[in-house]
Amino acid sequence: MADIKIKKELLQILAELGKSNHPCEFLALLRKNGDIIDEFELAPGTITGSTSASFQPHMMPIETGIAGSAHSHPNGMMRPSDADLRFFPATGKYHIIIGAPYTEDDWRCFFADGSPCQAEVID
Ligand SMILES: [Zn+2]
Repeated sequence: MADIKIKKELLQILAELGKSNHPCEFLALLRKNGDIIDEFELAPGTITGSTSASFQPHMMPIETGIAGSAHSHPNGMMRPSDADLRFFPATGKYHIIIGAPYTEDDWRCFFADGSPCQAEVID
């Protein structure tokens, strides 16, 4: 059984964002309706660079409805970095990493502790 459901369209938009920001990272906050992640907003206060994005969790809106985060790894590594693992718990339960070259298979979902999360893609 999947841990969370993610709308296919959302993943496609995130992949496009990864592509258009390459070689910089982008960071988005994910929203959930019921048990489906189907919306995102670009995070405020995000500084992106070619090596790593500098996240500023204190600038994040702490509000209900934020299910987690999504960000890109232009180096194509689809696992959380040490910085990611410090950042994840402040931003929700589910975290998507999108890796170059940003095809529909180039993403993984993780829990806040960095363990793999089974995500089901729905139309
Ligand atoms: Zn990362």
